[in-house]
Amino acid sequence: MPHSKCLHCRSRVWHDNVASGRAADLCPGCGDELEAVTDLSELVGLRALRVRPHLTHRQTADQFDRISRQIRETVAAQDAERQRRIDFDGP
Ligand SMILES: [Zn+2]
Repeated sequence: MPHSKCLHCRSRVWHDNVASGRAADLCPGCGDELEAVTDLSELVGLRALRVRPHLTHRQTADQFDRISRQIRETVAAQDAERQRRIDFDGP
């Protein structure tokens, strides 16, 4: 199961790479050792902390650039749509 739990700070952690076989990861919230989860019901009520242990700074920067570009494109598309409506409804 791609989840671990930390009972110390009552959180759950989702793992990108389940196949790595790493049993003992540390909680990104408090640094305590995470416990394996055998049933999803164990996750109920725990806050979600998601970690991406293999993400490099370069990947993070690329991802930031990609998200920034998507936001700019979305804003531009909405502006164009709004202008189109103004032109259409105009006198
Ligand atoms: Zn913790």
